[in-house]
Amino acid sequence: MRKLRKPYTGVRRRRSADRAGDGAARAGWRASRAGRLTLMRASQLEHLPWAVHGFSTRSGGLSLLGEERVLNLGWAEWDTREAVEANRAAFLRGLGGGRMWLVTLEQCHSDVMYLVDSPRAHELRGDALVTRTPGLLLAVQSADCVPILLADARHRAVAAVHAGWRGTLARIAEKTLGRMRMEFDTRAEDVVAALGPAIGGCCYEVGPEVAQAFAAQFPEAREWFEGPFDRLAGGDDPAPFPWLSMTPPGHEEPAPRVRLDLRAANRRQLESAGVPAAQIAANALCTACRTDLLFSHRGERGRTGRMMAVIGIRA
Ligand SMILES: [Zn+2]
Repeated sequence: MRKLRKPYTGVRRRRSADRAGDGAARAGWRASRAGRLTLMRASQLEHLPWAVHGFSTRSGGLSLLGEERVLNLGWAEWDTREAVEANRAAFLRGLGGGRMWLVTLEQCHSDVMYLVDSPRAHELRGDALVTRTPGLLLAVQSADCVPILLADARHRAVAAVHAGWRGTLARIAEKTLGRMRMEFDTRAEDVVAALGPAIGGCCYEVGPEVAQAFAAQFPEAREWFEGPFDRLAGGDDPAPFPWLSMTPPGHEEPAPRVRLDLRAANRRQLESAGVPAAQIAANALCTACRTDLLFSHRGERGRTGRMMAVIGIRA
């Protein structure tokens, strides 16, 4: 996630992690406890008996973030390798994937993806993974970006996708479906998708350059933005002749900003590619609103952990 100045000035709600299920259940999600951990799963993926999947949350790990013990699952300069490895092992055990091989990525906000068919010792650089090999757990990490899990219920193939605004703009979700079609004959109508916790349209402020890029790429982009989208996306300079205004130098208004709903954009991408809307479960929790339960890069000004979304085929 690109660093931008912190946009969120609303009142932060502090709620108990035990209430992770609020809002989640009614949208086809289930939160459960596994020891000290709280995990989230999408009901439709849970119905596939051959698949293992889950989304981590913040609490219950060994990492020390400030005064708080958290389940950080990504390498971070503030954390130790031992803590992250122990957290990952606890997360996998909690999911029932303790004997599976975890495949992670060195994520780079790209549309680069890989087919993996055997355990790998080193991280590949990219943002999506696909497999039909049992025993592998494909993982993406996030702390605001959208983690997307896909399962082809007919051919028993799975994918994990990391989509921030750059990946969304590069149509990484759509391209991953295309890769599954190529590799496994996947048909979009057989795909079940889960879009995990991510920064919401309530909090994700972006500048004119992002609005313009989305407007150029997606005819329906306006639906995913709140704020003066048309003005920004049109490329109009808000003050083309500043000397004509009465504003003294140094007192210009800041550039207008809009808020982007990344999950809505990715949901539409999957629907446009043919995945039935009823087979797409989008989690409603906003990472920046719910830093009591989730990690948020924006909401915590960069000093935070990483959550993990994983999916695999039982060995
Ligand atoms: Zn929010």
